[in-house]
Amino acid sequence: METPRTVVLAAPRSFCAGVERAIDMVRHVVRLRGAPVYVRKQIVHNAHVVADLEAEGAVFVDELDGVPDGATVVFSAHGVAPAVQAEAERRGLDVVDATCPLVAKVHAEARRFGARGDTVILIGHRGHEEVEGTLGHAPGIRLVRDVAEAAAVTVDDPARVSYLTQTTLAVDETAGVVDTLRDRFPRLRGPDSEDICYASTNRQSAVAAIAAECDLILVVGSANSSNSQRLVEVARRLGTAAHLIEDASGIDPAWLRGAGTVGVTAGASAPPHLVDGVVAALAAAGPIDVREQTAEPETITFLVPPSLRN
Ligand code: SF4
Repeated sequence: METPRTVVLAAPRSFCAGVERAIDMVRHVVRLRGAPVYVRKQIVHNAHVVADLEAEGAVFVDELDGVPDGATVVFSAHGVAPAVQAEAERRGLDVVDATCPLVAKVHAEARRFGARGDTVILIGHRGHEEVEGTLGHAPGIRLVRDVAEAAAVTVDDPARVSYLTQTTLAVDETAGVVDTLRDRFPRLRGPDSEDICYASTNRQSAVAAIAAECDLILVVGSANSSNSQRLVEVARRLGTAAHLIEDASGIDPAWLRGAGTVGVTAGASAPPHLVDGVVAALAAAGPIDVREQTAEPETITFLVPPSLRN
């Protein structure tokens, strides 16, 4: 009889509190206001979520000029710069802000650190929507992506420097960037609590906890999902082959050859049913034993604003 392949499900995985809240908010707005409801950018970075909400009446636009005057527009979980808020006000748009509270926390820090006269350094990925939003919250904010950029960044006064980070960075890599900044600016100040959010941190810990025993790790998530990309990188840095897949259809059968233990996880924007689909696809490829390994139990939820609940 064929030896079953072991499938280890990393926990926590898949939807975080900020993503669930943002998706719920779009659904509530469609229910309350009726379709179409405009959403600026992808509400969360997942192609399946976007397609499902489109089918329910959401219309995704890149910028506010795609929204008719006076219409309702939802800002995505990644947040926006103040200039976008101002433009929406000028246009008389009915704004529903689905910015994750943990992104809003970083925005507030950017404003606070900037207001006290510091040069603010944001550690993050150029072009990511969250980063574009945060950059707008402190004038003169510098963006650095890695240790090399941290070693080269210029500031106004080395004694007055603060840093912030994108919420979905890799914890291990970011520590090296902060160390580099602190070496250069010993009086560097940072956020009171980490900006890398609990969901990113926990999903990275969960993947790290299973990496050593796995021959292969499959990460469910879209290519533009930062936290999903980081899960792949964490696994690879620990020496385990890892691939990002949109869903079960992305599994290359060649990856499974000789892979006796396969880990499965999902980024914070990937729906849980896609993980079920991956497990089903693995079962279709041969007998499997499935178990779950929990690194950190998660109980956090973010409520939809009361105005949308009834
Ligand atoms: Fe919020 Fe983190 Fe989820 Fe992004 S990944 S929506 S910051 S909880």
